[in-house]
Amino acid sequence: MIEAKPTTMANAMIETTGSGNSPVQPSVMAAKTSGAAAKSKSAAAKSKGAAAKSKIVPLNFGAGARPFTRTFDCVIERQKRKTLALHVNHKKVIVRCPQRASERSVWEFIDDNRDWIEKRLRDEALRYRESLRIEKGAKIFYRARELTIEFKEGRKERVMVSGDRFIIQGHKLTNAKARVQVEDFLIDKASDYILPRAKGLAKYLGVDHKINEIRLRKTKSKWGHCTSQGILQYNWLIMLAPYSIVDYMITHEVCHLVHMDHSRRFWSLVESVCPDYERYIDWLQAHEHRFWF
Ligand SMILES: [Zn+2]
Repeated sequence: MIEAKPTTMANAMIETTGSGNSPVQPSVMAAKTSGAAAKSKSAAAKSKGAAAKSKIVPLNFGAGARPFTRTFDCVIERQKRKTLALHVNHKKVIVRCPQRASERSVWEFIDDNRDWIEKRLRDEALRYRESLRIEKGAKIFYRARELTIEFKEGRKERVMVSGDRFIIQGHKLTNAKARVQVEDFLIDKASDYILPRAKGLAKYLGVDHKINEIRLRKTKSKWGHCTSQGILQYNWLIMLAPYSIVDYMITHEVCHLVHMDHSRRFWSLVESVCPDYERYIDWLQAHEHRFWF
């Protein structure tokens, strides 16, 4: 299985390893109890057991604290746990803390990790800006090249790449229609490319009899999947990536027909077919957020 992290699922987190308190004490921070935070405390007391949430916008640190360069929503979730954890997701900073953690320790924890929070928010914003929209004039990252999407009037529906243009031809195109055409284009490409290669590789490895079915499916979080029943599944969005990446993905799932795990034996088999696989994994991690639409 190959896990993917599309834009919508980008979820960063940091966690303390020690006790409930912040491991580092900031030098200057007058941790004022904000009204919202105070409310959350009493709410937590009322709804015993349930995680109470408080929303504080923007974060207000005391005198002397460096302000954050971005504003964001902050949600504090009190839970049955021993450590504090930070998550950044959808422009929101979520702090999960023990039921009895003091507000001061929560604020200190946020303050201690401000660089990390800022970086995550920046990365998330960039990922969002780069996410794929099938629209006239938008950019599409196709086989590692940035192309401009162009709509072309024509009775015959087709998708073409010419120079640095990604041309979608159709009759009275709308964004919705164009999107369906690009989907069909990628599904066709996936079925022409992935199916014969997966079967061919399985034959080469002597496991073609194990294949029950090869499915092409757009899934939310996976590039590929292989079950012990011999069902191989590939996300056809991968056809936006260069062929070397697609080949790695084909290899990964087919090798699972031999080893149903991510053991050393599995990876050395992958390497025997696809020697540069580590590079492809890195590439995919750096760019996969640009493929989801
Ligand atoms: Zn796997």
